[in-house]
Amino acid sequence: MDPGIGMTSLRTRKRLILRLREAGIHAPEVLTAMRDLPRHLFVDEALASRAYEDSALPIGHGQTISQPYTVARMTQSLLERVRPDTVLEIGTGSGFQTAVLASMVRRVYSVERVRELLDRARQRLSALKQRNIRFLLGDGSKGWLDYAPYDGILVTAAPRGVPRLLAEQLAPGGVMVLPIGDAARQMLVRVTRVGDGFEQEMLEAVSFVPLLMGISDSVSEG
Ligand code: SAH
Repeated sequence: MDPGIGMTSLRTRKRLILRLREAGIHAPEVLTAMRDLPRHLFVDEALASRAYEDSALPIGHGQTISQPYTVARMTQSLLERVRPDTVLEIGTGSGFQTAVLASMVRRVYSVERVRELLDRARQRLSALKQRNIRFLLGDGSKGWLDYAPYDGILVTAAPRGVPRLLAEQLAPGGVMVLPIGDAARQMLVRVTRVGDGFEQEMLEAVSFVPLLMGISDSVSEG
């Protein structure tokens, strides 16, 4: 058992799953992943006791680990219609959403612009023996051409509009789930590649950190 977590985690994890169900998360595999993955290992030790609350928490560099409901909702929206074989994730952050995806699809490609966050996420996921993930330090608004096209793309930081380079890396029938907007107003949007075009659905209002340009390679917290 993990030190400092103990029985509380079992109880609080069950409570979290109940809450997610009430909020409309019904996909059994999403609920299972949310129940079984150790979210407390993806936050600083000082915050570990709050890891199974349904809230976003700081992970350094002005970034946050997404709220469990949001992770579950985005994953469910991505997997609802087609079962992706490969998924591109933009904004690795803590690596928690990466772990959720990796437990459900064959391979996950994850791009992060902050080296320290990427390195920590990589360590956590290798400790959890999740080996079906490839990481890239880069500007995710450009996607990751080497392995394109992807059946699914999930973006966990908000651009102002759908990045064209990302949409172009979707396979036919592929689905992208992303927040769009500015700091004041964002919508979760699902983009599906259909024939020569794209279909867009508005899902719900959300609040994400902005998608930033370029990479941040400094070693200090900021
Ligand atoms: N899914 C993550 C969310 C982290 S917050 C989690 O739950 O932990 C969003 C992340 O997107 C941050 O780590 C931020 O550094 C990263 N990010 C922002 N703009 C980016 C870009 N252009 N390319 C890649 N990553 C980016």
